[in-house]
Amino acid sequence: MAKQGKKAIYPTRIENYPEWYQQVVKAADMAENSDVRGCMVIKPWGYAIWENIQKNLDDMFKETGHVNAYFPLFIPKSFFEKEAEHVEGFAKECAVVTHSRLEHDGKGGLKPAGKLTEELIVRPTSETIIGASFSKWVNSYRDLPLLINQWANVVRWEMRTRLFLRTTEFLWQEGHTVHETKEDALEETYKMLDVYTKFAKEYLAIPAIKGEKTESEKFPGAVSTFTFETMMQDKKALQGGTSHFLGLNFAKASNIKFQNREGKEEYAWTTSWGVSTRLIGALIMAHSDDNGLVLPPKIAPLHIVIVPIHRNEEEHRKVLNFIGELTSKIKHLRYNEEKIRVKIDDRDMRGGEKLWEWIKKGVPVRLEIGPRDIESSSVFLARRDKQPNEKQSMNTDDFLNNITSILGEIHNNIFEKALNFQKENTKKIDDKEEFYKFFTPKNKKNPEIHGGFVRSHWCGSSKCEERIKEDLKVTIRCIPLDAEEEKGKCICCEKESSKRVIFSKAY
Ligand SMILES: [Zn+2]
Repeated sequence: MAKQGKKAIYPTRIENYPEWYQQVVKAADMAENSDVRGCMVIKPWGYAIWENIQKNLDDMFKETGHVNAYFPLFIPKSFFEKEAEHVEGFAKECAVVTHSRLEHDGKGGLKPAGKLTEELIVRPTSETIIGASFSKWVNSYRDLPLLINQWANVVRWEMRTRLFLRTTEFLWQEGHTVHETKEDALEETYKMLDVYTKFAKEYLAIPAIKGEKTESEKFPGAVSTFTFETMMQDKKALQGGTSHFLGLNFAKASNIKFQNREGKEEYAWTTSWGVSTRLIGALIMAHSDDNGLVLPPKIAPLHIVIVPIHRNEEEHRKVLNFIGELTSKIKHLRYNEEKIRVKIDDRDMRGGEKLWEWIKKGVPVRLEIGPRDIESSSVFLARRDKQPNEKQSMNTDDFLNNITSILGEIHNNIFEKALNFQKENTKKIDDKEEFYKFFTPKNKKNPEIHGGFVRSHWCGSSKCEERIKEDLKVTIRCIPLDAEEEKGKCICCEKESSKRVIFSKAY
């Protein structure tokens, strides 16, 4: 067992959760703030996680019939203005390009020159610019469905930023599809929400709740927005991603029309859906502990790290030989249809120091191999889902036979832990006073971790939603898709309600 009280990350989650988060990111060397305010530098360890997210999601998109394309970073202002709600929703966070070149200002500096006749918006999302292409690509019902995805960066000007969770520039994917009928478009919207929640469970080991956003929380310009909500270890919700049914709104704005089966021209139905590097923030906050990052194996940049243990050059040589042979065998194995990713850490450093570095980086399996292990042809194995000092000696053949199931077990353990946490911190509340108490910290100056998900009745009025948001900073995360019809009274105004919704504080 680990020594009580000695942890690698300070402060701990309980002491100061937001600061703990920053320290985990730092200790795992995932990202850092850049010189450009609000923008992050994603370092190799963080980017490798993103690449694994990207690769696996991309496979799922392709399996469901989507293909990738790329559209411009800039959107002419007039395009952006076409959908009224859309403009309204994004206007406050748009970066605008007004000039096309720089000139010497005569004082040794530079000044912008070449004023553009039409300003360009740096995309905060691409519905309008992609819509312009779609209006040309879609002519007949035979062109439908059109199923496109784009991997890109977007910019939303943020004043208060946090690595991965909220940055001015971030990476994401945005799916944009066009359909013949409303039913087809709705089916696509739900399908992609399912793809996301399946990905969250099977790759990120994060349980998700699917639901619909209320009018005030939906995507600007959408008819309806669906979301998957996840619970972080401070009991707050994090929106994992969204899938929007756009109705005819953007088709009308961008003039996406097609000739239907009767030869008549009509507007097409569109959807859009996206997840971003924010998922990495979710990953950190859902699983990591006071010793650092904990990664589900499928998206971990490395599955196994091997640390050679030796006292002299001769031992060093022998140990490296043994590890070399073992590694070539490991590389023949497959986990999640991919080669097992293994690294030998032969840096000139103390073994303990190396091992702690990999603990903080969240590598699922650590092996220590020294002369004694070679004699017994075994490895000394530790897992990131267990305590740092909980190690076991394992015969190399057993190790090779079992490593893929060990990685699978680690995934399941991490998922179960997160699921239990979510269940333990989800309550049904019918009493207003209890509701307010639940979301009010005992220590107001330095709020402790409190709250969770509450399933309560809501009458459907935005006034009640607003009231609760103002009083408690609690929002309706979603109207769960699995919510049963049930008579009850609104938690705020006591008017009749037919369904429970999920309330929570959120990122
Ligand atoms: Zn109400």
